[in-house]
Amino acid sequence: MTPDEFRRYGYALVDYIAGYRAGIADLPVWSTIQPGELRAALPSAPPTEAEPFAALLADLDRLIAPGLSHVQHPRFFGYFPANAHLASVLGDLLSSGWGQLGLNWASSPALTELEELMTDWMRQMLGLSAAWRGVIQDTASTSTLVALLCARERASGHSQVRGGLQAEPAPLLVYTSSQSHSSVEKAALLAGFGRENVRLVDLDANYAMRPDHLAQLIAADLEAGRRPCAVVATVGTTATTAIDPISDIATICAEYGLWLHVDTALAGSAMILPECRWMWQGVEGADSIVLNPHKWLGAVFDCSLFYVRDSDHLVRVMSTNPSYLRTAADGQVTNYRDWGLPLGRRFRALKLWFLIRLEGVAGLQARLRRDLENAQWLASQIETATDWHILAPVHLQTICVRHTPPSLSAAEVDQHTLRWVDQINTSGAAFVTPAMLDGHWMVRISIGALTTEREDVAALWSLMREAVA
Ligand SMILES: *Cc1c(COP(=O)(O)O)cnc(C)c1O
Repeated sequence: MTPDEFRRYGYALVDYIAGYRAGIADLPVWSTIQPGELRAALPSAPPTEAEPFAALLADLDRLIAPGLSHVQHPRFFGYFPANAHLASVLGDLLSSGWGQLGLNWASSPALTELEELMTDWMRQMLGLSAAWRGVIQDTASTSTLVALLCARERASGHSQVRGGLQAEPAPLLVYTSSQSHSSVEKAALLAGFGRENVRLVDLDANYAMRPDHLAQLIAADLEAGRRPCAVVATVGTTATTAIDPISDIATICAEYGLWLHVDTALAGSAMILPECRWMWQGVEGADSIVLNPHKWLGAVFDCSLFYVRDSDHLVRVMSTNPSYLRTAADGQVTNYRDWGLPLGRRFRALKLWFLIRLEGVAGLQARLRRDLENAQWLASQIETATDWHILAPVHLQTICVRHTPPSLSAAEVDQHTLRWVDQINTSGAAFVTPAMLDGHWMVRISIGALTTEREDVAALWSLMREAVA
């Protein structure tokens, strides 16, 4: 493909994407194709000869689009806002177009320095002190794994350069709550702690970690000769957006010298609003933080911010420094390969730069405030409706609900819940996610797609009432 062809096809593709976004509200929110349906419609082997671009473009609507679930749809209320703001889409396109390869500072000085600047802009937007330094990882799962590797190496005095965990005299322990994301357990297992050494701290009535129980578990483990190593606390848990009390947890971590990692993958975006920062009060006492601008904030996937207070420790844990990657500038520059797992990296900072410059901090704040207000509005509607119940405090943009007609048993309510969710989701008019809470089904309504306005939330509320009728 020549640059001239790229220009022509590129214009056509940008037109296609713009048309998709402009018409998205008219599409069914969720794909209803059957497993294997798309594979069966596509050639099973690659073409030997080149095909025309027009043939490719024609197949998008004909074959691929029916297999898309539209998380950019204004009536997508599932999982979490997975916003791909068009400003950041342009930044990401530029990243691909420039095709930079960030192996070290010298292989793309701009890639490194813009990433340093964007993580620092975000730090300021979040109200974090200058003690923090950040890096863009692909996902929160990776960030949390890196955090636990750092914790393991700090607690073990860099065991990895000796016999590793296998040579440690006593097990190292990780503490988290049962409401933490599955990526926490996965990270603990991959970092070699072992499932037996992951402690689940009890919850309070609002599904947040109980610091008094955390302190008890730590004391009991010390007593038994085990070695507490890290706590992973969550601000904005996956099921209910519960808020672990960071301040109290940080005090306990300081007392026992434990690494505190704060997972605020979803809720972190809300910290650009000063009125939300009580939610992570005490965060300056943490060692690491992860938040995903690729969720609510709108940076197109993948863009997970990982902040640490002691970047020297992080680099010592993650660096390998082979001879072919050393340069004269190494002492004066950041080499992000030493801040995470991958060696090469793409120019991810561009999507944040485009998003923040083209929206402005005020524009981003206004959108998040709109979503918070919409959530409060829906919560107030549900609260006053007969037989509808909100199951957890609505701090953010997620509402957990159940409809419980008094005539139904608990088991029947479970069936009833799955039935009404299914009715909404298969209708294509909106999408919400069922989830288990306290052993029973409930429905999570996550508000905050870019184009979700009050009328969309009101339409969902009508659909919910119709579905249970
Ligand atoms: C979404 C989420 C994750 C996982 O994020 P990935 O970037 O997909 O790995 C982890 N923790 C919390 C609290 C989340 O909301």
